[in-house]
Amino acid sequence: MFESFKPINRFLMGPGPANVHPKVLEALSKPTLGHLDPQFLQLMEELKNLLRYVFKTKNENTFVISGPGSLGMEASLVNMIEPDDKIIVCVGGYFSNRMAQIAEKFGANVIVVKEEWGRAIEPQKLEDALKENSDTKFVAFVHAETSTGALSDAKTLSKIAHDYNSLVITDAVTSLGAVDLYVDEWNLDVVYSCSQKGLACVAGMSPVTFSDAAIHHIKNRKTKIKSWFNDFNFLEPYWFGENKRAYHHTAPANQFYALHEALSLIKDEGIENSWERHKRNSNKLIERLKNELHLEPIVPIEERIPHLLAIKVPDGIDEAKVRKELLEKFNLEIGVGLGELAGKVWRIGLMGYNSNERMVDYLIKSLKEVISK
Ligand SMILES: *Cc1c(COP(=O)(O)O)cnc(C)c1O
Repeated sequence: MFESFKPINRFLMGPGPANVHPKVLEALSKPTLGHLDPQFLQLMEELKNLLRYVFKTKNENTFVISGPGSLGMEASLVNMIEPDDKIIVCVGGYFSNRMAQIAEKFGANVIVVKEEWGRAIEPQKLEDALKENSDTKFVAFVHAETSTGALSDAKTLSKIAHDYNSLVITDAVTSLGAVDLYVDEWNLDVVYSCSQKGLACVAGMSPVTFSDAAIHHIKNRKTKIKSWFNDFNFLEPYWFGENKRAYHHTAPANQFYALHEALSLIKDEGIENSWERHKRNSNKLIERLKNELHLEPIVPIEERIPHLLAIKVPDGIDEAKVRKELLEKFNLEIGVGLGELAGKVWRIGLMGYNSNERMVDYLIKSLKEVISK
């Protein structure tokens, strides 16, 4: 007789996945429903409304792509871009660079506005690029750049883009649920996220929302959308079909229960309270890292993602060894630096369910023991 797989109960304090709320794990084990079961369709309706709540939007076209954040990224770009369309992508890290790569794959004429890794996108740079490229159709940026810990001013970037008649595509993969995000107020046309970071759910679902302007654009394209799975015109009858829903793919029913539970927990707490909690606990963590371990974030204070810190590795410390000992002795996972920041930073996340004082205490205590050796 085989042995069931028994995962170690780790403390996940890196850039995601974060630990999943016990009630969300419980939701996963409920009886499976068919993807066209009337009760399942009811669940989809509730998911759309809960997502409108966390995105702060009235967008009708708010739903879930059955796949990770990266698939949401592809869905957002492929539905908008036609061959040779000009798109400005603001790149200051690993994930914004991925946006640029995907846009290029879909045949866009990609203009990159470069920012230093670890800094928010400078709005003036975007404006300068738009002045030089008056035929730009889209502006894309990452709100919370998880690879560097920098939070960009999505409201200002969006305002500038719209001043120059561009539609705005925003990555809210790390921001949704954890830091202030106002899709309607900030006029963000296409926004995608994930389930496993700020929402404290399991990975594999990408919430997305499309403004009326974005949908108008999709419906008036001259060329076909270069994807079958992500084509909004095919997803639409499944998520929004009047009176009759049509099969598109088999939605992961149990995962959707989990997402429903995770979103309901945020609604219960209040989204603004969730944002506040993330700031409060991160401020405590930053204070204690500084005072007790002389560790500091690389990102200037006013440009920081509250719940995901890139912490400078001190000279003379073997960063990989610290991570290894944290994992082996304390069951604690923190993140590695990516791209230009490889070997230079640790990435520490206090996301969703993990944003609490107990986790701050545990991290400080463990890091002290490992570093003091
Ligand atoms: C994690 C992340 C992604 C990719 O999400 P996956 O769920 O890993 O595919 C995209 N953008 C940002 C900013 C991220 O942090």
